[in-house]
Amino acid sequence: MSNIKQNLFLALGYKTLGIPIAATGLLAPWVAGAAMALSLVSVVLNALRLRKLKCAKPSEHPKNDVFVERSMLMGETIKIAVTPVIQGGGSLFTPEQFATIGKVVGTDAKIEMTSFKQLYVEIPLERREEIVASLQQSGLEVYPAGFVTKSLIACNFCKGAEEAGLETARIVNKAIAGIETPTPIKVGYAGCALGTSEPLLKDIGIVKMRNTFDVYIGGEAKGLKAVPAKLLVSGVSEEELPQVITKIISFYKENAKGKEKFNRFVDRITLEKISANCL
Ligand code: SF4
Repeated sequence: MSNIKQNLFLALGYKTLGIPIAATGLLAPWVAGAAMALSLVSVVLNALRLRKLKCAKPSEHPKNDVFVERSMLMGETIKIAVTPVIQGGGSLFTPEQFATIGKVVGTDAKIEMTSFKQLYVEIPLERREEIVASLQQSGLEVYPAGFVTKSLIACNFCKGAEEAGLETARIVNKAIAGIETPTPIKVGYAGCALGTSEPLLKDIGIVKMRNTFDVYIGGEAKGLKAVPAKLLVSGVSEEELPQVITKIISFYKENAKGKEKFNRFVDRITLEKISANCL
């Protein structure tokens, strides 16, 4: 700042002196020209002194904490979604897995339990690969957060792994979790018709009916007017199920208007058209 003030003084000083003298006719033209040139040279030489100044290192910054916090806000942290594997008994973490999460993400990390059975964990971007590898080694699954298809929100498989289709649920989860979508997509899974209320409030609901599956779409849980999903198709085989669900998601991705929510998309496009394109 002081350098700028000095330059202002140098530029104006020559003119403040020179113009009144020139007005009296006592200043030779060559002297006026030389004074003008000298004014410019002195301003440039003074400005070049700035090159010798050093910026303070972050560690020397008087408000170091603010500096770090600001750089984090500028995108140096990232959220990841962490879940246990789909298993009988619900979303079960082991004590070791919780200990690993605490150890690798550090004491300052933000950890949020979402309504769709994922832990959102905020981590430093530059440590992402190392942290994800440690979490996966402890048996946890890691997915992107944000505008993606969430990992499958499955029931507790109380009727047994085989009868409730645990392996099928895992295969569907592998096929869909993390697919980028215009808005977040939640897919619910019930291993029998007794537990249908939860999947029917999701964007896509899968219900196991004896040896086949029913697929519902367009559920909406938010607000006072919750909307149950509508039946899209019955009798889908175990082999067909992952493909049917991924086709519905792809069709939504390709045809949604901007960030159109899935249930609004279903209302606009209609069940008939979605059925004709995805089944
Ligand atoms: S949906 Fe059926 S199998 Fe799954 S937890 Fe509920 S009752 Fe048990």
